[in-house]
Parts: sequence; C-alpha cells; structure tokens
Amino acid sequence: MRGTFLEIRPRALTDNARRARALANGARVFAMVKANGYGHGLGLAARAFANAVDGLGVAVIEEAQALRHLGLAHPVLVAEGFFDADELALASRLHAEVVVHSPWQVDLLAARPAPLGVWLKVNTGMNRLGMAPDLARAQAARLRAIPGVRLLGVMSHFACADAEDDTFTDHQLAIADTLAKELNVPLSAANSAALIRYPEARARRVRPGIMLYGSSPFPWRSAADLQLAVTQRFSARLIAINPIQAGDTVGYGATWRADAPGRIGVVAVGYGDGYPRHAPSGTPVAVNGHRTRLVGRVSMDMITVDLTGLDARVGDAVELWGDTVAVDEVAAACGTISYELFCQVTGRPVRVIAE
Ligand SMILES: *Cc1c(COP(=O)(O)O)cnc(C)c1O
Repeated sequence: MRGTFLEIRPRALTDNARRARALANGARVFAMVKANGYGHGLGLAARAFANAVDGLGVAVIEEAQALRHLGLAHPVLVAEGFFDADELALASRLHAEVVVHSPWQVDLLAARPAPLGVWLKVNTGMNRLGMAPDLARAQAARLRAIPGVRLLGVMSHFACADAEDDTFTDHQLAIADTLAKELNVPLSAANSAALIRYPEARARRVRPGIMLYGSSPFPWRSAADLQLAVTQRFSARLIAINPIQAGDTVGYGATWRADAPGRIGVVAVGYGDGYPRHAPSGTPVAVNGHRTRLVGRVSMDMITVDLTGLDARVGDAVELWGDTVAVDEVAAACGTISYELFCQVTGRPVRVIAE
C-alpha cells in the first residue's frame, strides 16, 4: 500500500465549533461547510458541527441539497443564493435561507413568488457581491412586498478582517449596521477573523469557516495560539532514501543543488494528490516528528525531502501538514492560504476518519 493518507478528525471539528460558539457570545453560529467542508468532507464536517451550532452555511444550492440528502434538517444559508428560477423553487422546497445580492434575483422572486427566507446582501466595500446601501434599501421594500418572502436580515462580508489595521472593517461594519437598524432586521457580518477580533461585529449571526478547520485567519497568530484543534493530517511514506553528493541536483529543472553530501528521501505524494506544486525548496515537512524541508520541485506522484542527519527509514511516515507542521506554515511557504490547500487535496489520498 502506498500509504498516502488524509486523516480527518471529527472530534477536533466539534471542539473548534464549540470554541466558535464560546467566542460568539450569544450570536447564532452558522458553520460554513461549503466546498466539501473546506475539503474535509461535507457530511463529515456537517455532522461534526451539527450539535454545536445553530445552522450550516454553503455557497451554492447543490450543497444545501446534499446536506438535506444526508438527513441534516438544520437551517442552511446559501451564500450565493439562487442562479435561476429552478434553483429558487428548489431553495424554497429545501427550506434553505438564501442570500439575495442583486436586483435580478429580486426580479426573479417577484415573478415567481415562493416561501423563502432571504438575507439581503449589502456591499460595504468588498465590491464583490452585494448592493450599495440605497439600492439595498429599495430592494428590501420590494422583497417585503412579495408574498411568502421573509426578510431575515442584512448580510455583509469583510474584506480586511484579517488585516492589522481596523479602519476598513470599522467602516464596513458601520454601513451594514446602519442598514440593518433602519430595516429593523438582524445583521450577519462576521467570518472567522471578525468573530475572533471584532466583538462588535458578532451581531446576531456569525459565519465562521476556516477557524473550524483548525487554521488561523491571521498571518501573525498561530492556530495553536488561538486554541484551535488540528482537524486534518496529510501524510505519505518514504519510498526511497538515496545518498547525494555536494553539487548534485534533485528533481525536474535541477532547481535545488546540494552544497554538502547528504541523504534525500523520496516521499509518495505529489500534486496528483493535491500537494501544492508551487511549494518551494525549504517548505517544512516532518519525518518521525522531526522537522525538515522539501528540496527540489514537486512532481505529480513524488516529492523529495532532505533527510541529512535524520533517523529515517523507507516506510516511515512523512507529515506534510498536521500536528508538527501547521497547515498555515505550508500555506505561507507556498504564498497561499490554508483554504486553498484544504480545497485542492485530490481524491487519491486515502481518507482515514480518526476516532
Ligand atoms: C466562506 C464564507 C465565510 C467564512 O469565512 P472564513 O474566512 O472561512 O471564516 C463567511 N461568510 C461567507 C459569505 C462566506 O462565503
């Protein structure tokens, strides 16, 4: 057996959801499980969170449908709402709450009224989805006139809640809060970063994602420091160990050159498994609990690591991320974020569900 594993830890997911709930200070907690539960498995993540949260959040209606097929009757928020009239009808049948971010969605609802809970998305500076406050106000009035439609709240999304400067977030929050008060409905704005950092942004409903998966939203604070549990461990085995001489190069493109004699370990994982191809030489890995580094380019089925001075044998497990090497460290080395690493693990590694 090749021994390339993605171990998922339901108990850690539950622990992190409880941590989010404790931080939420009474706000309703909707756990984001979009994109296959940030790569952990939709059903597995949703079930792990189920008893610790008030609802679940997804991006698209198919994900809400999948949750219902799994037997989860929780309130479900669909963050991108419906894309057409069929999806609108489906959302209504699934009892999903949908986000309405554009007037064309209100047009569709007005043309095909259906019983539906709606969150009105206001653009407060992200300039992605959402309507400017004046437009949102006008659309709220239209929504309230449609039979069956319930305006559940105002929603906004922060652009910079993970940045050190508060100015942008304060500004966004003020706009969203004003509109929610005017319309006399609850506000939902906080993602993980805001939930942790901006108590005033917790409002009536929070939408944590990444923190539930044991990763820190902040570049300057580790997940361990935030008391978040590790929810997945990606590992693979050493399949060869070879001596190398000073001046030898390793891998495609001969991008890494040994400056002294040493030992190179070949590990059975590559970008075909979802290990990032752009991980540079120096990216941390751990062998038998000892940290070392990737050397040379990532191939489709293999990577090469520096074993010089380490006690390691063929068959030993190498941790790519998990307990010894935080996923956030690997993400930083690769110039990306843990979200992307979680989402891009392919179907090839064997999933193992921890006790
Ligand atoms: C994904 C998502 C979140 C969660 O963000 P994190 O940074 O993962 O906490 C919150 N709100 C919306 C609308 C989202 O799409």
